[in-house]
Amino acid sequence: MLDLSANKANSVESTDATAFRTAPDASARHAPLVDPFRRAITYLRISVTDRCDFRCAYCMSEDMQFLPKRNLLSLEELDRVSRVFVEHGVRKLRITGGEPLVRRDIMQLFRRLSRHLASGALDELTLTTNGSQLARFAPELADLGVRRVNVSLDTLDADKFRAITRRGELSVVLAGIEAARKAGIKVKLNAVALKGVNEHEIPDMLTWAHGLGMDMTLIEVMPLGEIETDRTDQFLPLSVARERLEERFSLTPLPDRTGGPARYVRVEETGGRLGFITPLTHNFCESCNRVRLTCTGQLYLCLGQEDAADLRAALRASPEDALVRQTIAEAITRKPKGHDFVIERARPAAVPRHMSVTGG
Ligand code: SAM
Repeated sequence: MLDLSANKANSVESTDATAFRTAPDASARHAPLVDPFRRAITYLRISVTDRCDFRCAYCMSEDMQFLPKRNLLSLEELDRVSRVFVEHGVRKLRITGGEPLVRRDIMQLFRRLSRHLASGALDELTLTTNGSQLARFAPELADLGVRRVNVSLDTLDADKFRAITRRGELSVVLAGIEAARKAGIKVKLNAVALKGVNEHEIPDMLTWAHGLGMDMTLIEVMPLGEIETDRTDQFLPLSVARERLEERFSLTPLPDRTGGPARYVRVEETGGRLGFITPLTHNFCESCNRVRLTCTGQLYLCLGQEDAADLRAALRASPEDALVRQTIAEAITRKPKGHDFVIERARPAAVPRHMSVTGG
């Protein structure tokens, strides 16, 4: 039995988690998940909580109402459903949120999931984080086989950082990044390009990140979940950001795909990689290999579409996995060809779910 007392200090969230029962390994092989467009689903993103210690202005509203904790999948259920996906050929798991590292006892889930790395069933176990808890958890994550982490950081200006996140401290995140790098974890920075907020800072952030050997990816703001402001005010097309960068840097397109939606260029002056995630100006769906599980166990086939399958009900209906497998298989047959975000149509939000529920 795993020690449930570990890592409770400073946790923002509590769970009703009971100890993991002895769960089977993903040794059994089951049918791979292939959607109607012949895309193999090998990448699962799992939101483990909708809670976050930040309230980024483009992501959440200031008075965000979080879900009752009983609605969330327990750590044991998260472990179980992950195993089932791995048995069906998923090779990459990304833990996200909300802020995944504020979920109480989250290291127990990482510890459980790391057995799939050890067995060779999984290629990668990774997470997306705001970095606020990384200084505390980086050494353990590295021990458990986490080799790469995405840290979301939109500015290097401490005042602007406080304004965007409404409560974050830049120095804490920078210390987290440093701890991850020291632990041997490769850090990639994700920055949402925000018109009038960080748009003129992008070249400096890029130079800083590449100077430390970190790749950086720019993300277009997406119309997910209602917030106080109109996102069309914040929307900066990455085509514009890229044109501006090209005035200063030579960008050479790279064929690299990391299993995610970013398209990469090499920045010749820095030697580093820069990614662009452009759901609004460029559709990247043709190579989509992923599905997303929300913290309440809803399996979304596409970030930009509403169709979902209720895996929580399937998990709770029976201790056997047959219904879970069947529900997943049926859902995959409904994976849409692509999403259709259009920022002009996105008032107040094209998709009512906040990114924090579905997971970034
Ligand atoms: N808390 C973690 C973090 O900060 O990385 C993980 C969850 S967060 C929702 C994941 C990513 O989604 C972050 O990079 C965040 O900036 C981005 N994000 C949130 N809302 C967004 C939106 N409406 N459009 C584009 N990106 C968004």
